[in-house]
This record gives sequence, structure tokens and C-alpha cells, in this order.
Amino acid sequence: MLDLAVTEDLGTRLRGTLLAPDDPAYDEARAVWNAMIDRRPALIARCAEVADVVAAVDFARDQGLTLAVRGGGHNIAGTSVCDGGLVIDLSAMNAVEVDPRARVARVGGGALLGDLDRATQAQGLAVPAGVVSTTGVAGLTLGGGFGWLSRKHGLAADNLLSVELVTAAGERLRASAKENPELFWGLRGGGGNFGVATAFEFRLHPLGPEVFFGPTFYRLEDAAEVLAHYRDFAHSAPHDCCVWADLMTAPPLPIIPEAHHGTKVLSLMQFHAGDPRQGEEVLAPLRRFGRPIADAAGPLPYTSAQGLLDETYAKGLRNYWTPQNFKALSDAAIDALVTLAARLPTPQSDILVSQVGGAINEVASEASAYPHRDTGFVVTPGARWAEPAGDDAALAWVQACRDALAPLADGGAYVNFIAEREGREHEAYGGNYERLAALKARYDPDNLFRLNQNVRPRA
Ligand SMILES: Cc1cc2nc3c(=O)[nH]c(=O)nc-3n(C[C@H](O)[C@H](O)[C@H](O)COP(=O)(O)OP(=O)(O)OC[C@H]3O[C@@H](n4cnc5c(N)ncnc54)[C@H](O)[C@@H]3O)c2cc1C
Repeated sequence: MLDLAVTEDLGTRLRGTLLAPDDPAYDEARAVWNAMIDRRPALIARCAEVADVVAAVDFARDQGLTLAVRGGGHNIAGTSVCDGGLVIDLSAMNAVEVDPRARVARVGGGALLGDLDRATQAQGLAVPAGVVSTTGVAGLTLGGGFGWLSRKHGLAADNLLSVELVTAAGERLRASAKENPELFWGLRGGGGNFGVATAFEFRLHPLGPEVFFGPTFYRLEDAAEVLAHYRDFAHSAPHDCCVWADLMTAPPLPIIPEAHHGTKVLSLMQFHAGDPRQGEEVLAPLRRFGRPIADAAGPLPYTSAQGLLDETYAKGLRNYWTPQNFKALSDAAIDALVTLAARLPTPQSDILVSQVGGAINEVASEASAYPHRDTGFVVTPGARWAEPAGDDAALAWVQACRDALAPLADGGAYVNFIAEREGREHEAYGGNYERLAALKARYDPDNLFRLNQNVRPRA
């Protein structure tokens, strides 16, 4: 039980706000993206500045409280909220400052991808990050972070110049190639294991304003043939191109003929990072193949492309995802994907095949904590459903996907797509786990930051 006077003292020390269960803003503040997660922290510290973060970390440590750290609240496993304990919520620390001459962005620890894209695109620049604008920059980047630009410019983490961090001891540190370089190594893929990131500096790249972007849809009966063609196209595609395949149920969108609404389809979501006319040309062999039922790809402002999937992935549904890495897609894997897609448990569920590789794989596996530098595709069956009554069917389908795909996959899983709270850390960190455990022992020996895909401090 928390001492009232001690809690009040924390409240008076914050420039931000301290929310308790009786506060009208509490329920909204504890809700995260995945509606399966329903946890009730004792306190939520909505920090306004770094001093608030230091006070909150000191408080959690000294009071022996469970501590969760929240950036954008998108984590599938719901690691940014806890039962009892304290949540450090950085959503108010979301400023993005861009220096267009130096091509550097300074980004607050609670910024969302939309904040980052808007500020950088205003200067004709961009950072490779994720594909849904409501995702938090912090959680995404600390786990690696990939999106449409990553085959050209690498992971979000590969574009980090520095991270400002509050450690478990309440110390403020800066990590970069020159300052605390081992910590900087660990922050580029090691997740939230080492402290609270209050600011990031990213290298920026010229882009847009328009890019070539959008989906082409195919019937499920054609999916095996189209996926095989996609695999071959992806193998030799220029790094400007990034195409994600999605086995899904056709939504009732005007771009899809009505006869196909509600049927199982394959979507190839295509992106080209250069001149849109060139993008159209380069992607034409993919889009002209087979018998597409709809094609909505074309020139689009980059910021619109970054928001196009927001509604599909809106907050509020129950979610369970199970990622696995593939170096390449074998014919057997393609057949398994199509068979599993025929049994999607709900219209919102899908099997997403994210193309990675390119510049991501030009970095050595041990150069940063993110180890998966030979992965070609991240395959993620994702169940999404509305009611708790659907839990059993959804989870059974996810497990069936996992069982069917595991023998065909290459081992390894992307840390940021894992729904399990524990048990997949070695898949996530691979051969870098032991080095991360040594770093953890140095910066967080008592494992204060343990609500994450956790690295246990080496004894
Ligand atoms: C709809 C959707 C789309 C996605 N798309 C992509 C994508 O395209 N590419 C991709 O790579 N990933 C993607 N992801 C996965 C995403 O990277 C993870 O969910 C990530 O955890 C989100 O970060 P967040 O800050 O929103 O998460 P939160 O839930 O706020 O935090 C997750 C964890 O990150 C750590 N953390 C968060 N903020 C901080 C901080 N400031 N300091 C220290 N630790 C912190 C903590 O350990 C926390 O438990 C997507 C997720 C969703 C739900």
C-alpha cells in the first residue's frame, strides 16, 4: 500500500500530472492499443520534462514499485502498463525539432510516428520508421523499427545519432557512438531494458513530398502463384522498393469491386522511395502479373501514405500476433500461408509478410543489439477480434499458424511484434543476448525496467 504523503510528495515534484484511479483521466490514460490488455496501475506519471522522469524513476525504485514505461502505447504484449505499480507516460514529451541544414531531428521520448513525419516532411526529409502513424517512436526505435524506407536507409535504430536516457539509478546519460558507446549499442535493438529514453536524435534523408504507394489486390485462389512471383521480384528489387504482402479479408472499400468484398484476398502494398514515375515503372512487373482484381497504387504524399493504414489498425480491438523470420519464402511456406489464410478467424485478422533486407542487412548482426541481419521477410499472423468470447478461436488460429510455420522459418522473431510477455527473448535478441545481459547488469542490475521483452541481468 502506497503511503499517501509520499505519493503527494511525488505529485508536487512533477511539472506534469500524477493520475490515480479516482482521476477522471485515469481510464483513458491506462488504455493501450491492444484491447486485450486491461491493467490498473496505482499511479500514472504524465511527465512534462526530464526532471519529472528522474523523479518518477527514483520514486518507483525507492518504493519498490513495478515500473512500466509508455511511449505510444502500441506494444502488442501491453508492456507499457502494469497492475499496481507506476506508469511513466511520456506522451506529453512529443516535441520534434528539425535542423534541415544538419539533417538531424531531435525527437521527444513520447512522440508518435505522425509527429515525426509531419515535422521532417515539412523540410522535405524523413526517418525510416513504421507504417502506422499512431505508433510510438520510442518503443519502435528501441526494438529496431522498420517500415517502407528501411530497405533504402536501414532501421530506425540504424539512423540514431544519440539517445538521452534516465537510468535505473536516476542518472541522466547520453549515449552515442562516442559517449557510452556500449549503451548506445544496446539501445539499438535491446528495447526498453536500460532506462527511459527522453529524447532521440535521428539522421534524416531527403524524400518526397510524393512517393509511389498503394495496394494491388488478388483473389486467394491466385495467391500462391502471385506470392511466388512476389518472392522472385523481391529478391532482385532495388532498395528503393519495399512491398509487403497481406493475406486478408477484402474490406468494403470503393477501390475493390463489390463482388469481392468480404472474400479472402492477397494485397501487395507497394512503396517506392524515389521519383513516383520511376516507382511506377519499377513496380510495373509486379502489378501487371496475374489477374489483379483491384489496383490502387499511385503517386501520393509521403505523409498520406504513412497514415493510409491507420484506420485498418485503429486502437480498440483485441490482438494477438506471432512473428517469425524467414530468409526467403519457400514454396512450402507459401502453401502454408495460403492454407492458413483460408481460415482467418475474423475479417480483421491477417497474415502480414513484411519485406525487410536491403540496407538493413548491410549491417553486421553484432554491430547493434538488433540481430536479424539476414532476414528477408518477417511473417506475422495477427488475429484481431472484438469480444472476449472470441479469444479461444483467435488464439487457437494463432497457435496453429505458429505450429505450421515454425518448421519452415529460420528462427528469430522481431521483438516489437511479439505478443507473449515472456519466453521468446532468445528468438528476439539471438546471438546478442549475452552481451545485452552484461550491459543490463551494468545499467539495471536489479531489473527495474523489466516490463519489456526482458533481458535478465547477468549474475
Ligand atoms: C498498429 C501497429 C503497427 C505497427 N507497425 C510497425 C512497423 O511498421 N514497424 C515496426 O518496426 N513496428 C511496428 N509496430 C510495432 C511497434 O514497434 C511496437 O508495438 C512498439 O513497442 C511500439 O512502441 P510504443 O512506444 O508505441 O509502445 P509502448 O507500448 O508505449 O511501449 C512499449 C515498450 O517500449 C519501451 N518504451 C516505450 N517508450 C519508451 C521510452 N521513451 N524509453 C524507454 N523505453 C520505452 C518500454 O519497454 C515499453 O514497454 C506496430 C505496432 C502496432 C500496434
